[in-house]
Amino acid sequence: MPGSFGINFNNQCIIVTGGNRGIGYAYCREIARAGGNIAMIYRDANDADDAANRVAKEFGVKAKAYRCDVTDVDLVNRTFKQVSDEMGPVTGLIANAGVLNPKPALELTQDDFREVYDVNVFGVFNSARAAAKLWQEKQFRKGSIVITSSIASQIVIQQALNQPMPTAFYNSSKAAVVNLTKGLAAEWASQGIRVNCVSPGFVNTDMNRNMDKKVRDFQASMVPLKRFAEPQEMTGQALLLLSEHASYMTGCEYVVDGGFLVY
Ligand code: NDP
Repeated sequence: MPGSFGINFNNQCIIVTGGNRGIGYAYCREIARAGGNIAMIYRDANDADDAANRVAKEFGVKAKAYRCDVTDVDLVNRTFKQVSDEMGPVTGLIANAGVLNPKPALELTQDDFREVYDVNVFGVFNSARAAAKLWQEKQFRKGSIVITSSIASQIVIQQALNQPMPTAFYNSSKAAVVNLTKGLAAEWASQGIRVNCVSPGFVNTDMNRNMDKKVRDFQASMVPLKRFAEPQEMTGQALLLLSEHASYMTGCEYVVDGGFLVY
């Protein structure tokens, strides 16, 4: 099978959390195009099996959806083990599942705050640790983890664009995983595990589909490329980081934002 961007994941399985839709689904398609088997982790979608079957059929690889809430640490460990038993050697993880839940800080309840941190930070940590444990147990001394952060790790978009969508706690969760990336990269380098993160700019997905059109148009106008990205435009960097071409890349945040942060 011809690889995507000259990259080949034949006989490897990559786990993608939040892989059934949005940016995660685009990752799954491009990994499958490069010959990789796919474990799509989702929380409560009804159509995740269909999404996996579509990928399997289109690219002739194994693809399976696994219902697993990434905030449940035991479930994540069990699910990743099951993936490795059923899908063959897991060589990579994209810890991509995330939630936004915008709300003014003063209206935020402790539960709102916890939900965002549980998914965006602990969910990433749970997934990264479950993958690292797998690699340790299998004595498979190589693995690549790609974490999805956001340009919100670096900039408060609400202030920059005067938009009515305060996300202070989302921003802080996305900044947290950038430092988590660096810490895990340093800690696990000696075990052959590389850890990086990709920070998307504005991407057309369910996360912002219901956004007010005026706000959306304004945001797009502030991007040098003058538009939101399509999910598949996020995939190049992540695929590179998963692959052997990135064997000396670890501990970095890579921004894919159409130039937005240059302003
Ligand atoms: P979507 O809202 O389209 O999809 C979110 C995905 O995460 C779904 O697959 C969902 O599963 C899964 N998910 C959510 N919570 C859990 C959980 N507890 N356990 C397992 N899976 C979970 O998001 P996007 O594709 O837009 O975003 C993907 C990532 O990119 C997120 O981390 C987001 O913060 C980040 N990002 C997105 C940007 C954008 O403009 N869209 C910009 C910058 C960063 P289910 O379908 O079952 O609910």
